[in-house]
Amino acid sequence: MSESKDFLRVKVEEDLKKGKYSEIITRFPPEPNGFPHIGHAKSICINFGIARDYQGHCNLRMDDTNPTKEDTKYVEALKDAVQWLGFDWGNNVHFTSDYFPKIYDYAITLIKMGKAYVDSINEEEMREFRGTVKSAGKRSKYAKRSIEENLELFSKMRKGEFKDGSHVLRAKIDMSAANMKLRDPLLYRIRHSHHFRTKDEWCIYPMYDFAHCLSDYIEGVSHSICTLEFENNRDIYNWVLDTLELKAPRPFQHEFARLGINYTVMSKRKLLELVEAKVVSGWDDPRLPTIAGYKRRGYTKESILNFCDQIGIAKANSMVDVSQLEFCIRDDLNKKVPRVMCVLDPLKVTIENYEGIEEIDASYYPHDVPKEGSRKLPFSSEIFIEREDFMENPPKGYFRLTKNQAVRLRHGYIITFKDLIKDESGKIIEIKANYHADSKSGSDSSCVKVKSAIQWVSAAQAKKVEVRVYDRLFKNEAPQGIEDINENSLQIIKTALIEPAVINDKINTRFQFERQGYFYADPIDYTDEKPVFNKIVGLKDSWTKKTNTFKSTEKIVNKKAQIDGEITAMNKEQQDLFDKYTNELKLNTEVANILARDEKLSSFYEETLVLLSSPISLANMVANEVARELKEKEIKELKFTAKQISKLVKMLDDELISSKIAKQVFEEMIKEGQDPTKIVEDKGLIQISDPAKILPIIDEIMTNNADNVAKFKAGNKKLLGFFIGQVLKKTAGKANPKVVNELVLKQLQ
Ligand code: ATP
Ligand code: MG
Repeated sequence: MSESKDFLRVKVEEDLKKGKYSEIITRFPPEPNGFPHIGHAKSICINFGIARDYQGHCNLRMDDTNPTKEDTKYVEALKDAVQWLGFDWGNNVHFTSDYFPKIYDYAITLIKMGKAYVDSINEEEMREFRGTVKSAGKRSKYAKRSIEENLELFSKMRKGEFKDGSHVLRAKIDMSAANMKLRDPLLYRIRHSHHFRTKDEWCIYPMYDFAHCLSDYIEGVSHSICTLEFENNRDIYNWVLDTLELKAPRPFQHEFARLGINYTVMSKRKLLELVEAKVVSGWDDPRLPTIAGYKRRGYTKESILNFCDQIGIAKANSMVDVSQLEFCIRDDLNKKVPRVMCVLDPLKVTIENYEGIEEIDASYYPHDVPKEGSRKLPFSSEIFIEREDFMENPPKGYFRLTKNQAVRLRHGYIITFKDLIKDESGKIIEIKANYHADSKSGSDSSCVKVKSAIQWVSAAQAKKVEVRVYDRLFKNEAPQGIEDINENSLQIIKTALIEPAVINDKINTRFQFERQGYFYADPIDYTDEKPVFNKIVGLKDSWTKKTNTFKSTEKIVNKKAQIDGEITAMNKEQQDLFDKYTNELKLNTEVANILARDEKLSSFYEETLVLLSSPISLANMVANEVARELKEKEIKELKFTAKQISKLVKMLDDELISSKIAKQVFEEMIKEGQDPTKIVEDKGLIQISDPAKILPIIDEIMTNNADNVAKFKAGNKKLLGFFIGQVLKKTAGKANPKVVNELVLKQLQ
């Protein structure tokens, strides 16, 4: 348990101190309508974690009250996830459907108390009668039915005498309650469908609000922990238990913020869409945020548990950066897994002055990992290196093999270029080289200078493997669904070559492929004849939010990455720039690092600085947007100039445009080389700051979201973000967020 306690544990301890409960009982209550995702992992860690920390118990309960969507295969997936994360639910899994008879009896009790009635109005009337936040609702005429009539109708509902939707059972609470959830909520509905457990025994099913609190009570739960969107349901939860006068100790509901991660969707409904549309290979596709997906990709349970621990438990919803999860897996594997060599895009190298074959004893772990282990690495005159580790016409700063620059073969010898062979198309198909016999790694007495070491495999002994390289499944940070899929999220490399020790290793399934990342032997498709590896994660964080460009930073940093995945020291010039950027210009170290290490970027940045004294905004624009362009181009090939970039940044600084719009303008600048001021004018992208223009939009949103207005007024201040988001959406990002914030707050008073 971490040092400072979260608010849930504080509450649990308070309750224990007061003697409210003799045992802490929690539950994890998923609906078996999909595979669990990383959000569920958070809930699992909270519920099972609290039970463990206070020597209590946590039930695994399937909340199976919706027969049309549920299935045993999901039950199995849920069990598997909980088990894999290392938690134990005891002897049996619970099911809400096991309590259907009891819940039905509680409904009868409510009817007898005059607290529930059978309503027979249609859906449209029901919506209309509910009223709005500003106006009270109206009770249906059927609310006047006598207890006897209600009992009879409810019994007929249960017997199957009515069709779906013709009647419902409602609690008689208050049609003018400020909390709209309390306006006579539904308790039961008719559903003539087959339930995967109770088969056709029931044709009425209890609603979540009725079933959940009662299931908690029946199981003796003390703390019913759920996510924030159930905040307003808490009143019903209490109403049901209080009205039925259920004896203490009774459960109480507590809410925490649900986990959201960028670049993915996280609702079972949306995940199901992807599975059904076959844009992924199944619920365990390694690109999905499902537990089964992470498992198949090669994530360890420790990394997931660590992540859940790191993000903590809060009362405000927030978005967690996916790089935080990646950090956790990298951090876990860094010290655990052997480092081996695999060449993804092989280029043949013939070492002309070497004869025979030798076996090099090569350590599996770098010096700072407190683990022992090594393997035999065959070396011969014919090897393969990574195609990109040789360049005929290298740019400045290229540290690998060139015509004039020797390179070290990791764990082996230094080689020098002699000749190259091309095919008719001009593609290099072979390199001829010499090796330096006195340069063997560990006992190097040669005077040959190298700037880096590269991975390689011996041709005769290397094994062909398939490598599946995964990228983000979605193109944008807050994807809606299928429409935002990244078409290039899976790259299958069929010609990779790996050193033989990996295939013969019967213990390890996860490896670091040096300079490439961490990989996992696919638990389903891997065979000795056709080995398949999944890329778990790269060696470096490639996606941090601050440097918001698709992969650009990975490229920039990796270029300089040495064999251990460590970054080479900066040269004097780079170091001076870095110091200036961080000390004088106050850039954050990450941005400063990107700029200082890349000559093209830093010179472009320096050019903009002369034109506009806004070092931080400019640096962000250059390290992100401009960097992406300069990845493949030279400065003189760019469509835009430093002057134009400084104009764009100036508009941003002056709040003439929002940062979202700035990105959009930049996209235009890349294409046409048009002046940013002109783009903004032509497209009418000027930020809207005039309250007279924003207010009507806010009013409309408030009318359409009366529920949320009520919640906000009732104290749920977190909904502020919701309203602001809606206004920004409505204005295509043009509304000035600051002004919107002020106005929304004023209107909601
Ligand atoms: P989804 O929208 O993904 O279907 P859900 O909330 O409907 O999720 P349930 O199966 O009802 O899924 O959830 C089981 C438990 O897991 C609930 O207590 C729920 O609050 C919790 N949970 C679901 N999603 C998250 C999340 N993203 N972060 C934290 N807890 C979550
Ligand atoms: Mg749900």
